[in-house]
Amino acid sequence: MDLKKYVTVVPDYPKPGIQFKDITTLMDNGDAYRYATDQIVDYARKQNVDIIVGPEARGFIIGCPVAYSLGVGFAPVRKEGKLPREVVRVEYGLEYGKDVLTMHKDAIKPGQRVLITDDLLATGGTIEATIQLVEELGGVVAGIAFLIELSYLDGRSKLDKYDILTLMTF
Ligand code: AMP
Repeated sequence: MDLKKYVTVVPDYPKPGIQFKDITTLMDNGDAYRYATDQIVDYARKQNVDIIVGPEARGFIIGCPVAYSLGVGFAPVRKEGKLPREVVRVEYGLEYGKDVLTMHKDAIKPGQRVLITDDLLATGGTIEATIQLVEELGGVVAGIAFLIELSYLDGRSKLDKYDILTLMTF
């Protein structure tokens, strides 16, 4: 299936010069959403993963159906102040300023093989921060899966120690 057909490219959103890749038109098509999910499920099986981890919010959309299909758990990565119990936290740089991501301290058991999921690899900053959280908890990053990679931003170079699956490249 040609998944790119289902991604809507929105020029100049959220600001001039950005080509926003809108995946809602992939998600709202049952066949395309299932096809994309199944590719990631196959990959997760090959990488022998125990748990899925994804950053809010689109990492949930990709990761949760994969977890359900495999019968493994899903652990959310959230912005500061959203998780109710003890967390690990990481600050990471954005284009302007910085942001914080957190995970519950008991979300991953040491040695668990983790698949990280997100919709899109741009600069790689979000996933780099997510990896830091997973590794701080003793998880092993067994793979990272994205629907989309923006190859011109070269986020992959930040992640060269890890195994990566991307379903589409722009
Ligand atoms: P990054 O940390 O730079 O790899 O990007 C983090 C997140 O920003 C991605 O997972 C996307 O959800 C979002 N994002 C960045 N660039 C785009 C884009 N051109 N179109 C849609 N979403 C984007």
